[in-house]
Amino acid sequence: MTDIIVNGTLIDGTGAPPAQLRWLAIVDGRIAEVVCGPANDSRPLPPNANILFDARDRTVMPGIVDSHCHISYGVARGMEEQDLYASAEYRAIRGMWHAGEVLRSGVTSICDPGGSWNVAIAVRDAIKAGMFEGPRIAAAARYLTSHTGLADYYPTWIGAPRSGVGALTNDVQSMLTEVRAQAKNGVDLVKIAASGESSILSPGGGSVPAFRCDELRIIVDEAHRLGKRVTAHARSGQAIVDCIDAGVDWLQHGDFMTREQVGKLADSGIPLCPALTLNVNIAQWGHLAGCSQARIDRIKRDLDNSTEILSYAHRQGVRMMCGTDSGFAVTPYGEWHAREMELFVSHLGMSPLQAISCGTKEAAFAVDPEGVGSLEKGRWADVLIINGDPLQDIRILQDKARIDAVFKGGAPIGLDRRANAIRWPWEKSLEISHGELRYEMVYGAR
Ligand SMILES: [Zn+2]
Repeated sequence: MTDIIVNGTLIDGTGAPPAQLRWLAIVDGRIAEVVCGPANDSRPLPPNANILFDARDRTVMPGIVDSHCHISYGVARGMEEQDLYASAEYRAIRGMWHAGEVLRSGVTSICDPGGSWNVAIAVRDAIKAGMFEGPRIAAAARYLTSHTGLADYYPTWIGAPRSGVGALTNDVQSMLTEVRAQAKNGVDLVKIAASGESSILSPGGGSVPAFRCDELRIIVDEAHRLGKRVTAHARSGQAIVDCIDAGVDWLQHGDFMTREQVGKLADSGIPLCPALTLNVNIAQWGHLAGCSQARIDRIKRDLDNSTEILSYAHRQGVRMMCGTDSGFAVTPYGEWHAREMELFVSHLGMSPLQAISCGTKEAAFAVDPEGVGSLEKGRWADVLIINGDPLQDIRILQDKARIDAVFKGGAPIGLDRRANAIRWPWEKSLEISHGELRYEMVYGAR
């Protein structure tokens, strides 16, 4: 018996123009054959074929790959919720639950570029073992950071909490020790916070490098020696350049590059995940989620800058991967994973077909470059059936009502979305109010 998906319009994720699918055959969870041809093609189906799905008038495409999804963050409203208030045990169970939501939204692979404890590793292994349903996961652990890097959120007299997403590595020995410990604990990749956002260090806004290039090289060399790939959060253009020189495998954000720095990135061939979704969600809809006007205004200013430089980067041939920074309350699991493809069209100037490749085959670079991301012979049969044509309107991929079926390794995924509706209170918040209550606000000016 060979399982087959028949008919439909095939978008295979490679960037090839859409084709009329006759059948896609699946053996042992992998794609054994993809046969395209005109509607009047009368070739007989393979012998012993079991029709899994008739996709007539549907789009058949690879499962979405989100190369930037933090499964341990737990829909955090801020850094204290991200770092402090949930136990490791609860984070793992919660992360497992969220992984199901991610899969049911059509995302069959994610890269988790940094989080607390070994949550992403545990969730990955539980899915791999068949205990629970979830996407394929490439997992990092805590970000290696310094006192000028992202994830060192608190004053020096507090330090980096053990439960937080940052591992403070302020000297070479602690960098080496952290990389070795993470490798021992089973990460797929090492995450570096290569830059940070610090209003003290860069009063005009922007981003400052967290490490010197020689320090980055020590981290990267040790990770590579242990067979682990490396990605880096790098908004500062100088950090991007230093990461390229240090041999980082792929980069995140890159929104404060100069044109010259873009040229160096393009020449390097190193892919970039801009992760626009988080910031665009705040800029466009932050008011719906209670973001402060000051934050919305600052993010809008950053976005004007990053849209200009990142669309230039796309035109210069920088390889782009889709990733959404899901895991925050403005980017909850299962909601916005396909939005980055829309933003690659609206903000970077891509065609929908190009954007789909960036959200499938290109993004797969962060997870399993040879195994997922496209519907080609030999790859895992991770397949979406969409009611509609995403080349006409890329936004339909965000509408879960349009997802008729999700297959992971050829197995159909239950799409009962009642589970997605379950919400629970945040663990804890020490915030008493968002603003000030003054006498005049109650009794008027005196
Ligand atoms: Zn992130």
